[in-house]
Amino acid sequence: MGGSLFTWYGEFADKDTEAAYRGSFWPDMMGGTARICALASFGFLLAGLTLLAERGMTPLVSFLTLLRGMVCVTGLLPLVLLGSRYSARFTPVLIASFMVCLGCYESVAAVLTYRPGMESSTPYTLLIVLLFYIVVPLTLKHIMAAGIIVSVMYISALRLFVVPGWSNLFQLTLFFAIVNALGTSVFIHMAGWRRRHFIDLEEIRHLNEKLHQEMRKKEETNRHLEHLSITDSLTGVGNRRKFLEVADMERRRAYRYGVPFSVVMLDIDHFKEVNDRYGHEGGDIALCELTRVVEEQLRCSDLLVRLGGEEFAILLPETRREEAYTLAERVRQRLAANVVHAGILRFSITASLGVAEVLNDREDSVKGILNRADSALYKAKAKGRNCTELYEPEL
Ligand code: GH3
Ligand code: MG
Ligand code: MG
Repeated sequence: MGGSLFTWYGEFADKDTEAAYRGSFWPDMMGGTARICALASFGFLLAGLTLLAERGMTPLVSFLTLLRGMVCVTGLLPLVLLGSRYSARFTPVLIASFMVCLGCYESVAAVLTYRPGMESSTPYTLLIVLLFYIVVPLTLKHIMAAGIIVSVMYISALRLFVVPGWSNLFQLTLFFAIVNALGTSVFIHMAGWRRRHFIDLEEIRHLNEKLHQEMRKKEETNRHLEHLSITDSLTGVGNRRKFLEVADMERRRAYRYGVPFSVVMLDIDHFKEVNDRYGHEGGDIALCELTRVVEEQLRCSDLLVRLGGEEFAILLPETRREEAYTLAERVRQRLAANVVHAGILRFSITASLGVAEVLNDREDSVKGILNRADSALYKAKAKGRNCTELYEPEL
């Protein structure tokens, strides 16, 4: 990460990035900071007990305690604002104001409780200034303004009202200058560190999003490939693989629940001639037309598949062989009555159909059903085509 990414005061040079950082990090940081302020203000209130113990409840101590109470309230304000939409905007200002109030109190207390050689509040004030640079992760300008105001106010109060002498004053100024400089440098370092952390998180988030997108794309492609692998590309109905999958599932279901399940095999009659007469394209149109006509006759739970060439199968769950026969006959008649339009050509096709029902036998298989339907179909062909035959088990 190059240095030019940040301004000298530790923020992103790019305003949009800074806004994004504040938008995602500040709400959390505001909460933490407001709680720190509230704790600091209680600690500050409790620290007043030392003065009370040392000097008793004199009017001066009462006044200073009242003042402490008021400062304590300003420290609670960021907590009150928490969660509201003004929090991000005003918390930095409120915290800076709290610091200034602390500085005010320490300046007043330093003047009123001064005893030569005992400016006991100086270390506290220095600590307060330093702590705010370290624990308040807002903007440098707020913290710096408050830190400098507190320092100048404190030094001026001592200089104007208690005159600690030039060497003392020089020493005080030096302490505050060092604390402000140290605080600034720590603040800038930590602001940069937090923002680098933000960039890392953003990068991870971005990579995660990309990964998710790619995974979604892959899933979609897989689904598409899966669909293609069980679909006949010419007619759009299922293919042999689809038939084997569904037929096996339906066969198991039929055996498990004792329900009927029939299969109809359909083969176009003299399709070779159709091709010869109307061209391969005409044949293709006839195949598509067949799927349309057959599907019109089916229930939504039935399934038409193209086993290959001009051979189709219809799966009829919960259907007895007699019902399957009736349906097959209806399909055959509709098919024969239908006129195929292939460009300027008009022709009709017929088909032969064989019907078989699944046996109530654990050993029965898809291959077995198919064989039985095929032998019924063979019988239909032998009978002269354009008819439907039921499979009859040989005695
Ligand atoms: P049968 O009545 O005994 O079933 O006679 P048939 O001519 O239909 O049977 P055969 O198996 O001899 O011929 C099937 C023909 O189907 C041969 C082949 O060219 C054609 N065919 C197979 N797949 C396609 C296809 O995808 N499109 C077209 N147009 N023709 C196909
Ligand atoms: Mg045929
Ligand atoms: Mg055939």
